Amino acid sequence: MDCGPHVETADSAEAGDAREIERRYRALVEQLPLVVYVDALDESSSNIFTSEQIEPLLGYPVGQWRDDPDLFVRTLHPEDRVRVLAAHARTHKTHEPMSIEYRLLARDGRVVFVRDEGVIVLDDEGDPLYLQGYLLDVTAERELQEQLRLQALFDPLTGLANRAFFHEQLEHAVSIRKESEQRTALVFIDLNEFKQINDQYGHSVGDEVLAVLGNRLKQIIRAGDSVARLGGDEFVVLLTAVAEPAEAAIVAERLLDQITTPIEVAGRHLSITASIGIAVGGSAAELLKQADAAMYRAKANGEADYAFYDDELDQAALNRFKRLGELREAIGRKEFTLAYQPVVNLDPFEVVGLEALLRWQHPEHGEIAPLDFIPLAEESGLIVPIGRWVLLEACFYAARLRELLGRDLEISVNVSARQLQHPEFVEHVDGALQRADLPAHLLTLELTESVLVASGERAEQQLGILKARGVKLALDDFGTGYASLAYLQRLPVDVVKIDRSFTAKIDSGGDDLALLEGIVGLGRALGLQLVAEGIERGAQQGIVQDLGCHGAQGFHFGRPESAALATEALTQATLPAAS
Ligand code: C2E
Ligand code: MG
Ligand code: MG
Repeated sequence: MDCGPHVETADSAEAGDAREIERRYRALVEQLPLVVYVDALDESSSNIFTSEQIEPLLGYPVGQWRDDPDLFVRTLHPEDRVRVLAAHARTHKTHEPMSIEYRLLARDGRVVFVRDEGVIVLDDEGDPLYLQGYLLDVTAERELQEQLRLQALFDPLTGLANRAFFHEQLEHAVSIRKESEQRTALVFIDLNEFKQINDQYGHSVGDEVLAVLGNRLKQIIRAGDSVARLGGDEFVVLLTAVAEPAEAAIVAERLLDQITTPIEVAGRHLSITASIGIAVGGSAAELLKQADAAMYRAKANGEADYAFYDDELDQAALNRFKRLGELREAIGRKEFTLAYQPVVNLDPFEVVGLEALLRWQHPEHGEIAPLDFIPLAEESGLIVPIGRWVLLEACFYAARLRELLGRDLEISVNVSARQLQHPEFVEHVDGALQRADLPAHLLTLELTESVLVASGERAEQQLGILKARGVKLALDDFGTGYASLAYLQRLPVDVVKIDRSFTAKIDSGGDDLALLEGIVGLGRALGLQLVAEGIERGAQQGIVQDLGCHGAQGFHFGRPESAALATEALTQATLPAAS
């Protein structure tokens, strides 16, 4: 404001006073450790005046607040925006003072917590003029509060939830499970003889071990589940949705795997073991008490590293644990064998290959069928070493047979999802082919639909590589899973094996024949090689041949037999003819 030449009049004396007052107020306002503002009573509370302190606080100069009516709305933290504008609107309407805390985003991205206290200023008639107030920076207080909150909820050594936070999570998990089919399970872990580590190597080594274990546990829990350290050497894993108790057993096995993998601390490899107790269902308090009790049972009985609180479940878990131990030993003890079943071409009629089928010669229970132990091997990951053995054994046998018969014969090997997902699956297959000296085109990998669906993109890549090597791929048990025939076009499958549920009753009239006819028609239209499974009678053979299946497999052509018997059958080459 320019006041012109300095002439002392009553007016100019008044103006001088006003300037003096304004100077004093401005100095006062700018000394305050807060931002003073005056806003219009419009929707975005556009700014009329802001004190200089705003610039160091948020990084925008005073002028910008005045010139850009939307700046305030834009700097509001998105999560707070609606609440803050509603509070402003309420104050505009009711003229009641506003007192609110929220976050603003500074120009450089910092989050600033402010307390905003505002009042409506009225004119002499009592009409509202503007909103006037101050913003107090409370960031340091809030950050300290947050730090304290985290300290109160997390264990500083492992970064896991602590006991208090865990109780909250447990209560919450139990409360939302009430309506659901699924249940909550609690897995209580106590390290065995952990005190010895502390005594022998000192507390810093003990702490390091706990930190490493905490980290490992965190890595393997499923999304939605949580892990906490209750204190000392006690950890808990909360499974928020289990459909059946066996799921909790699988988790316990995985946890044990992680815990027992040696830990390298200060140049030493330390081996830790643990006892695990599991409780399923029940209230939060019960779950914790029961899982704890089950853990003591596991520690005391020494037969298994984990135990269920429930007796019946515990017996099942014990059996499972024993079976798992036996399965783990079975390769080393040479208890696995392969049975071979012929796969025939229908026209011209000849044996073109063999499918290798796994058998377990259990020392007590005799021969165990694959469906009775493969699920356990899959869940525990043991299928990877077992599957590698199968691949190698089958390739060796096929190479031997090829030499003996003087002609090519294909060998089919069943592969599980866990094998396919293994990062070195391609090497496993390559290794078997090389060691056995078997040409790749004589090996077919059989995958079920669920294996393919579960395996993901990476596995599809692995299959692509193998296919480029010449290995063939068969879709096994077609029709029992989720894959549609159209989905097959996308996958590099050479052969589709139609599940025996589609061929079982085709020779006794009914709708089954029409269904099979439809599947075969579509498969042929997609240019796939079709093999009918489960052919037990000549009549079935005649039907699948007439429908246009290329190959077949089943008891009618030969049951799965030991290598010796399969070799004998092939050298004699006696095959039943179609009827
Ligand atoms: P699959 O691959 O579909 O194998 C065919 C199954 O059908 C075999 O059962 C075979 O004995 C049976 N079968 C063959 N012809 C007939 C028939 O005419 N009638 C009837 N009723 N059954 C017939 P097996 O040997 O019990 O194997 C069952 C499943 O276990 C296999 O089904 C395969 O999915 C899996 N499996 C077998 N060996 C392995 C293996 O080494 N690795 C993996 N991952 N899975 C395997
Ligand atoms: Mg198969
Ligand atoms: Mg099959």
